[in-house]
Amino acid sequence: MKSIIIAIFCFFLFSTIAHAEENVDDDIEKINLFKQMEFITSVPWYYLAAINRYEKNIRKQEEDRLIHIEVPPEKWFGFAPNNEDSLSLSLELFNGLGRDGDGNNKAELDSDLDVLYSISNYLQRYGHTEEDMKAALWNYYHRELSVLSIVNYATMIKKYHTLTFDQTAFPIPKGYNYSYKNTWGDARGFGGRRIHEGTDIFASYGTPVRATTFGVVELKGWNRFGGWRIGIRDMYNRYHYYAHLNGFADGIKVGDIVEAGQVIGSVGSSGYGPPGTAGKFPPHLHYGMYKDDGKNEWSFDPFPYLKKWERAQ
Ligand SMILES: [Zn+2]
Repeated sequence: MKSIIIAIFCFFLFSTIAHAEENVDDDIEKINLFKQMEFITSVPWYYLAAINRYEKNIRKQEEDRLIHIEVPPEKWFGFAPNNEDSLSLSLELFNGLGRDGDGNNKAELDSDLDVLYSISNYLQRYGHTEEDMKAALWNYYHRELSVLSIVNYATMIKKYHTLTFDQTAFPIPKGYNYSYKNTWGDARGFGGRRIHEGTDIFASYGTPVRATTFGVVELKGWNRFGGWRIGIRDMYNRYHYYAHLNGFADGIKVGDIVEAGQVIGSVGSSGYGPPGTAGKFPPHLHYGMYKDDGKNEWSFDPFPYLKKWERAQ
């Protein structure tokens, strides 16, 4: 088994070096690597890709590495008394998940192949169905949002067979009248002392509302403040919140993948009361954006993004 792993990685390394000057698409290179790992460990490649994407999202710095997964030392080394001891066999003994993937007999945190192989090896112990993956991810992250995000990313990566989901759209299609200004942080009249976390885009009842990015529907339904609203998580640990809708696009449901520009509902004035309440304010789309760093989730100002997407349409 060991020699197979080394042979595959050698092949991978050589093909990487050979193609380096040809500026080969980074995604293809990564997908190939994840597929080779699937071949060795039976862990579906799109889960490996999804974890890598998620971990890249929660890191502050863009590192020039293929693998962005940072395994905490306590997980990597287990209860090995000496963290310098990176011999892969001894880590197994001490319940650390660090393994040797590049064939130098050491399990090193700064080796892409060691990290990827170690994570695959860890996941493999749980099985390879979606439920197995969820269990493995829960035991690794102990955080529901992390598990949910990674499972959603895996679904998207599997469907589109790519790692890049950069397409964007302004929420209101061209040809419809609308207006908006920067209202970030304004006080609002209902619901106590909360500040306004988002941008209001005023438009007529029934104006189509589009998803601004690719993503997975995470929430759909009624909320006392937001009325009929829908929440979509994109590939970059960002959550997009569309509120006060008149209604939803036919058939759209939690767990669905949506594409940038896909109509998800229409502008309304729902909210500020029990289900069905509408007309307490002029019709508008409330659009909010939230970012998750793997520990906390917070709202940030969507206005500059809206301006950018508007210019591009
Ligand atoms: Zn609003």
